[in-house]
Amino acid sequence: MEEEEGPEFGKPDFVLLDQVTMEDFMDNLKLRFEKGRIYTYIGEVVVSVNPYRKLPLYGPEMIAKYQGRELYERPPHLYAVADAAHKAMKRRAKDTCIVISGESGAGKTEASKHIMQYIAAITNPSQRAEVERVKDVLLKSTCVLEAFGNAHTNRNHNSSRFGKYMDINFDFKGDPTGGHIHSYLLEKSRVLKQHSGERNFHSFYQSSDSDEANYQAVIQAMKVIGFSSDEMDCVHRILAAILHLGNIQFVETESGLEVAEERLVDHVARLTATPRDLVMRSLLSRTVASGGRELIEKDHSAPEARYARDACAKAIYERLFGWIVGRINEVMEARGRDPRRDGKDTVIGVLDIYGFEIFPDNSFEQFCINYCNEKLQQLFIQLILKQEQEEYQREGITWQNIEYFNNSAIVELVERPHRGVLAILDEACASVGTVTDRLFLQSLDTHHRHHPHYTSRQLCPTDKTMEFGRDFRIKHYAGDVTSAVEGILGKGVCSGTYSTDLTLRSMWPDGQQDITEVTKRPLTAGTLFKNSMVALVENLAAKEPYYVRCIKPNEEKSPGHLDEERCRHQVAYLGLLENVRVRRAGFASRQPYPRFLLRYKMTCEYTWPNHLLGSDKSAVGALLEQHGLKDDVAFGHNKLFIRSPRTLVTLEQSRARLI
Ligand code: ADP
Ligand code: MG
Repeated sequence: MEEEEGPEFGKPDFVLLDQVTMEDFMDNLKLRFEKGRIYTYIGEVVVSVNPYRKLPLYGPEMIAKYQGRELYERPPHLYAVADAAHKAMKRRAKDTCIVISGESGAGKTEASKHIMQYIAAITNPSQRAEVERVKDVLLKSTCVLEAFGNAHTNRNHNSSRFGKYMDINFDFKGDPTGGHIHSYLLEKSRVLKQHSGERNFHSFYQSSDSDEANYQAVIQAMKVIGFSSDEMDCVHRILAAILHLGNIQFVETESGLEVAEERLVDHVARLTATPRDLVMRSLLSRTVASGGRELIEKDHSAPEARYARDACAKAIYERLFGWIVGRINEVMEARGRDPRRDGKDTVIGVLDIYGFEIFPDNSFEQFCINYCNEKLQQLFIQLILKQEQEEYQREGITWQNIEYFNNSAIVELVERPHRGVLAILDEACASVGTVTDRLFLQSLDTHHRHHPHYTSRQLCPTDKTMEFGRDFRIKHYAGDVTSAVEGILGKGVCSGTYSTDLTLRSMWPDGQQDITEVTKRPLTAGTLFKNSMVALVENLAAKEPYYVRCIKPNEEKSPGHLDEERCRHQVAYLGLLENVRVRRAGFASRQPYPRFLLRYKMTCEYTWPNHLLGSDKSAVGALLEQHGLKDDVAFGHNKLFIRSPRTLVTLEQSRARLI
């Protein structure tokens, strides 16, 4: 890395900054960005800034430069981290994960694709056919999931509207044998409406009449994965049915509520192979349990019918997406299972999930996303601290405590049993009809009146940025998020279990739930999301983590421009300064002896150009002795630990004088 990373490119690792201030951090980030150096480390964490232009950083030649190298030997890159994760897995049989975070348009999905491509390129040198097939499915799955889960938004023309965690299984040779995808919280409301300038999911525009190239690519990818032509046909019929469903309007007549254009109902019934009168009935009425187990049919009002129609369109799309993910998983699992090594595979997990979202209007989806980010932030800090501690132990160095911002109060506010926001929401949802939005808000106010991270207009009457009886605010790590309670309550029931189409019916494996059961105690979307987050965090915590922190340089998707204000905000809420501080606390820097020598050997006559001192460790000792810096370091078994940033600055300065 050294000859390619001269001082004109700034510091390749933020840990090397003279001082950890926002100004110094931003200066370095900006300098490197302007020179096309979009990646910078904080220890082993990669900070990445979206260049919005093609840079010559990827492809086979670059991959070859990083393969099998140590992190410090080459300029910072995603490839280096992918390689480190793969090495850890192969050499030490460690399960690892790569957590990619950042806001929409920051470059997370592109990063995850580069990582996958790197892993695909460096594995299976012997070209085993079975492994090649698994790699094909892994890479092609991205194309299919993007068609159904991504959309053109104002912030990103190919924005992922779901969170994705993918496990890749490896055999003892380090070659991929299978995988598993978890998807989180698909933004299904997009099926119904989009902000101005935005579009529905890509899949709705792809046919042989429009966007044909992508349509063909998706069909091709689905074939490679193993979708049958019947299945693909069913997928397209469902997309068409959703579009027709969306066009259905209702009219009030003397004999009650009716559908304005009945042929649309015919289309939906035909396309979903469902009896027409069932489609009609599910739009115009609902079955409710009255009293004990007695069921009655209750007619919908016009708003209720519109709500039922919308809920149904959303539910069908969500089921479709879930089914596609499930099919891909079936294929990857079947191919990954090796009867001789069952359960002994090692895993690299890749998490590509949206960062904090703070809009003028925040819905339930933002609430979940931001809660998810609090969980991940908490895990991030805990794991970084844990990693530090373990490294100190490994190297025989005494551990010292590190102060850090603990966000557990915010996580608790959301997820605490019985009185957390989600528990109160569950309570309210269980009694829809009696509990109104306003009562839900009152209950939040009562329980969290004194919580430092919760407020509402009721609790803070002078704050005009919130409305009485409508808004509540959570003071997140990343900033204040105000949500309106309306629309958070409520649910719709709609099912494909009456379809005669087997593919479609398999999207509703739970079958037709007994309505009396449903009304008793449904698992709400909030609780389901919480459970999936708890499982995700447990899963990640059991692995050795690598992090990619993505930054979006500007709002205009413009190449080369870095909006300092916007970036500063992201640096702050991604906790990057804190990350540098944690990394430097106790010891500002730790470096393997060979790496240290590579960077500083020219500053000492005993080590330049090569040393004759037996071991790198003693050569480093001689170098520090000559600089009079020996009192400020600790010698680990394999690494040098440098206590004060001052020492690092001294070394950097004497190096800079020579080059
Ligand atoms: P996110 O997943 O964080 O929302 P994406 O990964 O989809 O963001 O990136 C948004 C867009 O930014 C991409 O479609 C691409 O045009 C551009 N982009 C992201 N990363 C890079 C990169 N490394 N090099 C060039 N362009 C990039
Ligand atoms: Mg994305």
